[in-house]
Amino acid sequence: MIAPDAALALALQTMTVGPTQTVAHADALGRVLARDIVSPLDLPPFANSAMDGYAIIVGDVAGASVQTPIALRLGETLGAGDVPQREVKTGECAKIMTGAPLPPGAQGVIMREETRETEGIVSFLAPAQLGQNVRDAGSDIARGETVLSAGTRVRAAELAMLAALGCAQVEVFARPRVGIVTTGEELVGVSAALQDGQIRDSNGPALCALCLSVGAEVVAQRHVGDAPDDLRATLDELAPTCDLILTSGGVSAGDFDPVRDVLLADARVIFWKVAMKPGKPVMLALYQGVPVFALPGNPVSVMVGWEEFARPALLKRAGARALRRLEVTARLSETLRSPAGKTEFVRARVAREDGELIARVSGDQGSGRLSTMTRANALLVIEARQTQLQAGTQVVARLLDCTEVE
Ligand code: AMP
Ligand code: MG
Repeated sequence: MIAPDAALALALQTMTVGPTQTVAHADALGRVLARDIVSPLDLPPFANSAMDGYAIIVGDVAGASVQTPIALRLGETLGAGDVPQREVKTGECAKIMTGAPLPPGAQGVIMREETRETEGIVSFLAPAQLGQNVRDAGSDIARGETVLSAGTRVRAAELAMLAALGCAQVEVFARPRVGIVTTGEELVGVSAALQDGQIRDSNGPALCALCLSVGAEVVAQRHVGDAPDDLRATLDELAPTCDLILTSGGVSAGDFDPVRDVLLADARVIFWKVAMKPGKPVMLALYQGVPVFALPGNPVSVMVGWEEFARPALLKRAGARALRRLEVTARLSETLRSPAGKTEFVRARVAREDGELIARVSGDQGSGRLSTMTRANALLVIEARQTQLQAGTQVVARLLDCTEVE
């Protein structure tokens, strides 16, 4: 058995980074930038006011206070989008709104709340510093600065920045094309009535959702029973159009495990069987040169195998720099036993309680217990050498993609 870290390293080595393409700005959300974004302009492009108030010459209001207000003549009024028509001269001020360009001559802005305006005269109740409430040209981003780097995923903030910079076209990595193959004679679809011995396929939808969550495109989703020939035909069909294939089930030690049989016979196996729980039988193989992540069929094993290997590999393919989940330390709420010699991934719910992160195991850890996955927002990573953890121990919690808490 190979250690999970070594298997992950092999998975990342096996996966190549995908090609790039150009998309319209509106389609860039969730995509990964293929190039550094260098700013073609200063941001903001011109000095402007950070407040609704009055643009002044600093020396004109020196010593102003509530007890000793200083009065200045009001010149023009500037809204956002206006272009100043006159210089602010000594003894004068201009009324200015947030985002309006600072008029020539002005050295700072005093916010409205520190003034009184009556009939063209403004009384200032406070002095100002040079540059007060002024957003200088280029103070956020200077022209020529690298604002976003290749490998960054475009979230709302990045999408906003690309818009501010005028990037109407964005070069991104192509979405990885994934094929999903579920195996097992016992499985039927979500709307089928269950006959004796049957269960519904839950891994197919899980894998589909997980692929979408990293911006991959599921180009084909197939189900085969336990006949190796059917699986082979399906892999032959998918391999030419997929960057990566995920299979579910049929990869362990049973009599009817077609993924194991086909991949051992017809593929180049990179690793098989990892010292982890759940998910031990996971295999990575190259079938006609296409990486096949053969994930075990148990509904939790499939998701843990995804987390540990397929997800980082797919993120690499997608061009992303960040391949790992955020891990935090949390205090274990109960004593845990863990098998020797295997890294265990324990489903848990992490939340802040009395100012501290607490990890509560989400229930029985059987690999078929999907219910404990639905109650988890983290996987606790219990190292292979650890066999017992006392309640109160600090553990590593890998946060899954739910960040909201009740
Ligand atoms: P296998 O790895 O094929 O031996 O499957 C292990 C366990 O996972 C068995 O109990 C299967 O019925 C179950 N299983 C396999 N594939 C799926 C699936 N797509 N959805 C739900 N359960 C599955
Ligand atoms: Mg099976």
